[in-house]
Amino acid sequence: MLSKKGMGVSPSPTMLIDAKAKEMISQGLDVIGFGAGEPDFDTPSHIQEAAIKAINEGHTRYTPAAGTLELKQAICRKLKTDNALEYDPSQIVVSNGAKHSLFNSLAALLNPGDEVLIPAPYWVSYPELVKLNDGIPVIVKASKDNNLKVTAGDLKNALSAKTKALLLNSPSNPTGQVYSKDELKAICDVCCEHNIYVVSDEIYEKLLYDEAIHYSIASFNEKIKELTIVVNGVSKSYAMTGWRIGYTASTAEIAKVMAAIQSHTASNPNSIAQKATLAALDESQKCVGEMLVAFDERRKYMCERIKNIPGLDALTPRGTFYLFVDLSGVIGKSFQGKTLEGCDDFAGQLLESRKVAIVPGSGFGAPNYVRLSFATSMDNIIKGLDRLEAFVNDLQ
Ligand SMILES: *Cc1c(COP(=O)(O)O)cnc(C)c1O
Repeated sequence: MLSKKGMGVSPSPTMLIDAKAKEMISQGLDVIGFGAGEPDFDTPSHIQEAAIKAINEGHTRYTPAAGTLELKQAICRKLKTDNALEYDPSQIVVSNGAKHSLFNSLAALLNPGDEVLIPAPYWVSYPELVKLNDGIPVIVKASKDNNLKVTAGDLKNALSAKTKALLLNSPSNPTGQVYSKDELKAICDVCCEHNIYVVSDEIYEKLLYDEAIHYSIASFNEKIKELTIVVNGVSKSYAMTGWRIGYTASTAEIAKVMAAIQSHTASNPNSIAQKATLAALDESQKCVGEMLVAFDERRKYMCERIKNIPGLDALTPRGTFYLFVDLSGVIGKSFQGKTLEGCDDFAGQLLESRKVAIVPGSGFGAPNYVRLSFATSMDNIIKGLDRLEAFVNDLQ
């Protein structure tokens, strides 16, 4: 019999539609995809050049398990400038992407049976990462009245003697919502009072719109800083998803445990990608702003269009590159005689009949929603939304 732990992990449900869409594309069908979980831009050229230089200069060997000192120092500078957080390089662990950082965080924190609070809608990997580390995911449902953000009260109600940690994600994938300073402070108070660790996934911190401001929960006081593992990386801000660099900032004690785990499972993150990340963090940040301008233009267009389709409703994203669309107004309607029972039916029929791929909310713990990414060209967005609108208008 294969491992119970391994067999207990669900394959990513967001991949099902994606696989189907790719199959249709390979058959030559004209599919428009709103599924992208990564920027559609190339990695900025000065970052690419830093990597090429690293190869030419022979930076091709193992590095220290937790990353090179120069990169950890650059991360400390970044955390100070952007997040008002002071860390020493001994508190930083560089890993193979923020997802790996999340895995290491949970591996360092959890004992069998420990409960981890996960606000829903959540990123698909959170519950599985908790299970893989012998923890128990406790889903805390956020209400639409609070823009799909959990409150301190929601978290309090979910506490038990076994609650070990909270997995927080702001700006949030999939909702695009950003927790305000006051909301975070209230959550901080609950965690401090009950000694709950916070794994704070801040990977979208630079993708903010309107007047949204990102605060790292770790910055509020010394106690919460001790309890928090800040998780971040370069994938989303710098269009570097393929490079696989993420990092954590935590107490030196936690960092040491994570580094030991990593040293036996992955050795070190890629040496060349570490050099590229150094360039991303230290050199001009103009590239981030340029991508943001493009994302913002698409965001505004998409929001406007979706809100004008009767039956659909979307939360205006204040961060990330996702639009989370409420289907409550169309679930239960029928398409060509078949009732749409939920978001999976909606996404399935839309793909089959109109060749538009979107991500059903079921994998995010939000069965009446779908996620549309605006990490795709304006041309695609216009064409795809025309098709979506026609599909919804056909529902009976
Ligand atoms: C993309 C993403 C990550 C992982 O990023 P990598 O650095 O590419 O591993 C982590 N958390 C959320 C919420 C994401 O959307």
